[in-house]
Amino acid sequence: MWCCVRELWLRAILTCAIGACSILGDFGLRYGKSEPERAAFDNATHATVGGLTWTLIVILSRKYVARNLDSIFSCFLLASFIDLDHFIAARSWHIHDATHLQKRPFLHCTTIPIMLWALFISLSNAFHSPVLEQTSWVILAAFLSHHIRDGTRRGLWFCPFGSTRPIPYYLYVSLCMSLPYALHWLMSLHTFVQKSDGPVALIDV
Ligand SMILES: [Zn+2]
Repeated sequence: MWCCVRELWLRAILTCAIGACSILGDFGLRYGKSEPERAAFDNATHATVGGLTWTLIVILSRKYVARNLDSIFSCFLLASFIDLDHFIAARSWHIHDATHLQKRPFLHCTTIPIMLWALFISLSNAFHSPVLEQTSWVILAAFLSHHIRDGTRRGLWFCPFGSTRPIPYYLYVSLCMSLPYALHWLMSLHTFVQKSDGPVALIDV
């Protein structure tokens, strides 16, 4: 009983932390004094939201946070590193060049993480590898949390098909907060499919 209450509180706190962190990050982006300050604040927000998203998935999966710090840190780093494509596309390390591109850089195309997820899931099924399976979900969580945040300014980009309209502000905050629940649900469906095929080691998230 005490354990259930504690788990519910943890879920509620982490869900609110994702929403609060997103909103706080947007304030920093809007009111930051200089371009580097705004970019650093925005990137730190992406990383934190990514880390919190995977932490909540770990809690929802009833696993120990302490034993899953590596995957939490991976999601944190990946959500931050996505923005390196700005510098690659600009072919410059100057923040002004990186933030004034003509087109959106390639890692901001949402088709890419979906394809990477499909590739890693297929490989994990082929090789019965829980590590590859976990990697596929970490990639999806990091990219989607980043793309949804950026989506409130520029929409979601599904190349080569096109982009959606910018996501309305409160819908974007709600999507960030519900993303871990949606991914956890999808993960449970995938585990269910595997179970019906035969005994396969469960993902340790
Ligand atoms: Zn971005």
